Amino acid sequence: MVQTFPQFAGVNTFSTTDFPSGMSAVFFTKGCPLRCQWCFNHELQDFRFSEDLLPEDRIDADKVEEFFHNRKGLIDAIVISGGEPLAQAGVAQFLTLAKSYGYQTGLHTSGVHPHKLVPMIDLVDWVGLDIKSLPQYYDDLTHFKNSWKLVEQTLKTLILNHIHFEARTSTSPEFLSALEIEELMYLLKDYGVKNYAIQELQSPEDKELANFSHYSHEEKSHLKFTADRLFQKFEWRESVLN
Ligand code: SF4
Repeated sequence: MVQTFPQFAGVNTFSTTDFPSGMSAVFFTKGCPLRCQWCFNHELQDFRFSEDLLPEDRIDADKVEEFFHNRKGLIDAIVISGGEPLAQAGVAQFLTLAKSYGYQTGLHTSGVHPHKLVPMIDLVDWVGLDIKSLPQYYDDLTHFKNSWKLVEQTLKTLILNHIHFEARTSTSPEFLSALEIEELMYLLKDYGVKNYAIQELQSPEDKELANFSHYSHEEKSHLKFTADRLFQKFEWRESVLN
């Protein structure tokens, strides 16, 4: 049977940070329906491949299967990331194949496709869910209509189905003040989030693309103190993009 798989733009063959319990390989899909204000990687957003991508660089179904076969015993999990994986067809087939090889599965998502997540919920062992901001800022920030309502549905789906997940917010003082992050933490706690991470945006080398400021030492300490009381697990990370 011909497998329909998502369009992959690349693979990180070995990662210690993209799945919570073990080594993983991360498959990146191409294309994202959001336009986050801080996203300076337009390659990730665009669904089209550049015409100069060589046939041998394309990751088709045969290459995926060969990879799954060769990596058995070396990694624990297969993670699908993006872009936005759920904007693509074939994610369920991809995860089903990964499971048939005995891998655990992870999904990184912005959460704007809850109706696509529901039918494949049993195929996902862990989810990294972006919570980009407070609800009232979502549409402006992502340029995607009703985006918070959709993310909220995804959040509720994960909680109702007892899926192991991490909510994470990539931000900087340009987008959320420390006070607003605290407000967001309380909101997420009320929804039932147990694992949360702040990923503080770091400026790329080319400062013309983006130049983010940073939270003060006092603000970070206060937020960490608050988060440690609200969540079972909390991490403060430095993040280039998500
Ligand atoms: S930051 Fe991530 S979710 Fe936002 S537009 Fe860029 S690729 Fe999409």
